[in-house]
Amino acid sequence: MPTKIVQYRHQAFLQQAHRCYYCGFLMWESDPEAFANTHGISLAQAQRFKCTAEHLVARSDGGTDAKANIVAACLHCNQTRHRMKPAPTPDALRQLIFKQLRNQSWHRRAVAGKLSSEAG
Ligand SMILES: [Zn+2]
Repeated sequence: MPTKIVQYRHQAFLQQAHRCYYCGFLMWESDPEAFANTHGISLAQAQRFKCTAEHLVARSDGGTDAKANIVAACLHCNQTRHRMKPAPTPDALRQLIFKQLRNQSWHRRAVAGKLSSEAG
């Protein structure tokens, strides 16, 4: 039985048209090989685009597992946000990422170049 949070993540994944809440890149849920083949990237490169459940308000800040607090984000954005101290708000992170995406320094250049034509 999938947990509630997995269901919410999946619903967010579909609602967001398979795109990361933060960077807008396509993500995969269960098949990194197919994703890598489709986009002409390596399996290792595909790992960062794994779809994860992201808490808009982190659990450590009192955020809950309620549906409204869950979005789908790629592993890279999710991990990067929580490595930053203090973790930026979702809006601040989106602004930071959009700035970095303009010069392709968010996702590695090689990967970003292959996927950016499809990013929204
Ligand atoms: Zn992302």
